[in-house]
Amino acid sequence: MRSLSIFGATGSVGEQTVDLVLRAGGAAAYRTVAVTGGQNVVRLAQIARDLRAEVAVTADPARLDELRALLAGSGTEAAAGAEAITEAADRPADWVMSAIVGAAGLAPGLAALRHGGTLALANKESLVTAGRLLLATAAAHGARILPVDSEHSAIFQALGPDPIAAVDRMILTASGGALRDWPLERLAEATVADACRHPNWAMGQRITVDSASMFNKAMEVIETREFFGISPEKIEVVIHRESIVHSMVAFCDGAVMAHMGSPDMRHAIGYALNWPDRQRLPVAPLDLVALGQLTFQAPDLMRYPALRLAQATMRAGGKVGAVFNAAKEVALDHFLDRRIGFTDMAAVVDRTLDRLLAEPGLQNDATSLDEVLATDHLARIRADEAAKTLGRKRAG
Ligand code: NDP
Ligand code: MG
Repeated sequence: MRSLSIFGATGSVGEQTVDLVLRAGGAAAYRTVAVTGGQNVVRLAQIARDLRAEVAVTADPARLDELRALLAGSGTEAAAGAEAITEAADRPADWVMSAIVGAAGLAPGLAALRHGGTLALANKESLVTAGRLLLATAAAHGARILPVDSEHSAIFQALGPDPIAAVDRMILTASGGALRDWPLERLAEATVADACRHPNWAMGQRITVDSASMFNKAMEVIETREFFGISPEKIEVVIHRESIVHSMVAFCDGAVMAHMGSPDMRHAIGYALNWPDRQRLPVAPLDLVALGQLTFQAPDLMRYPALRLAQATMRAGGKVGAVFNAAKEVALDHFLDRRIGFTDMAAVVDRTLDRLLAEPGLQNDATSLDEVLATDHLARIRADEAAKTLGRKRAG
């Protein structure tokens, strides 16, 4: 029987993974090794019971007693804390879903890769902060990484067996996010609620706000560079309001392969779960005639400065991706806590990059998790300073 683990099981991607595993037969079809979550221990315990998991881990040590009580009599072990999550990734499984949000997903992902098997990677932060390290770890242990981010799953499928050398461009589609039709001069006033109204996709709160600012697409551009090893000038972003084309690959002979489907993450999650086979998935069939038209337009860099910052990050190389991600996470925290405005998020990342780019050694690739974490830590301090300065200006 195939074994699996789900990291971030209580989140948006995690729940959809659980849904697909249950539909495929649940405990009768898969042996579940570990499931992990954060604050939502009630849901975590239910998932652990449904899948008959060997261990359930919450990121929050203060919730261990509650989780243990919820699991009483189930046969599932309870554990808590960041280290326990990484230890759970040390329990070998054939297929591991990495769907924790943020840089916290990196250490468990690396631990899972050391056991070979397949890492289904939704946690884009791991690729942005430590792409080379992740790929090198997979190669050293004969593990496979399958992309779960819908754009990268689309590109992976559109590529097929063709070599990267035959690719002219990888074209990432973007919906434009919740504020795409707002007048530019009003963007600074956008609230968290405004930024959370995604036109097409139902996702976690952080990624939904990142879609409005296009920091999500900026992360995905870097993710594309890291995962497929393609040069930055061959990566293009187009606004595609309908979110039907999930991304495209343009080949040297002029052919463009597009992956299309309804905007449902279970396409990409299910593809990674069933790869190299395809199975029927519970996604709505695509009705192009009912849709009538698909539209494409160039993104405005004044509206989406995050795309420009991603280019600067890729040009700098080395550990600068870790700075970009950490600064973005801190900026997002400050915005979600209403301490800075929507447009201040890009300013925080810009200032943090500016301050750290001259730092010695930053241009060299990270060779260990500790090096990545040290860069992440330093970037968070600088980003926090930048955000506080901007927050004071806003309040004053
Ligand atoms: P959610 O916020 O919905 O879920 C995040 C999961 O991680 C939850 O299980 C949460 O637990 C857990 N978690 C939160 N903080 C920590 C922590 N510090 N340590 C360990 N676990 C933690 O996120 P999404 O599902 O939206 O996104 C997950 C990842 O997938 C992200 O990297 C995102 O960018 C990526 N992704 C998401 C897509 C989507 O459609 N949602 C699409 C493509 C990529 P709890 O909720 O119990 O607190
Ligand atoms: Mg995506």
